[in-house]
Amino acid sequence: ASDSRVSYIRNSVTKIADYPKPGIIFRDITSTLADVRALTYVLDIFSERYQRSGITQIAGIEARGFIFAAALADRLQTGVTLIRKPGKLPRAVHQQSYSLEYGEDTLELHRDALGATDKVLLIDDLLATGGTMQAAAKLVSQCGATISEAAFLIELSGLQGRQRIAQAGVSTYAICEYD
Ligand code: AMP
Repeated sequence: ASDSRVSYIRNSVTKIADYPKPGIIFRDITSTLADVRALTYVLDIFSERYQRSGITQIAGIEARGFIFAAALADRLQTGVTLIRKPGKLPRAVHQQSYSLEYGEDTLELHRDALGATDKVLLIDDLLATGGTMQAAAKLVSQCGATISEAAFLIELSGLQGRQRIAQAGVSTYAICEYD
């Protein structure tokens, strides 16, 4: 969506230099969440795109993805599925590990959370390298569900994360981007 709502949303994100370490520009969406106009625009744009798309579940990635997943699920009348950090989900899980700049991280999804009849929208606040979303997409596929798309509020387009998600056979949509 390239309309005036996108520039309003883009301006609502706070830029923090050298956080969490020198050289990183952190894009803080807490200011977007706190601004009812920005938050409404975000949900309007996502619901315009995904209404009538046959999505049955919105899978949010811990933690900021949960917020958008829950709010959008209410708009689209779908369920919410949680993709979580290790050790948080009580039943049998699928696991996927992925590489970070330093070291590795893991995500988990309940094995019985999704099935072959589900069409899933994956959602997170921000796309950087795409490692997190690629792992999340693999988890959803392990459950036998179909993936509609990976959706983000923000894409850091210089990091080629979109290409990494495409390696998992999934297309990417982001409301706004930064270099
Ligand atoms: P990645 O797996 O590299 O795509 O990283 C995505 C995750 O890291 C998202 O859940 C973001 O919340 C967080 N993240 C990475 N880089 C930034 C950044 N520059 N500003 C804010 N959050 C970030």
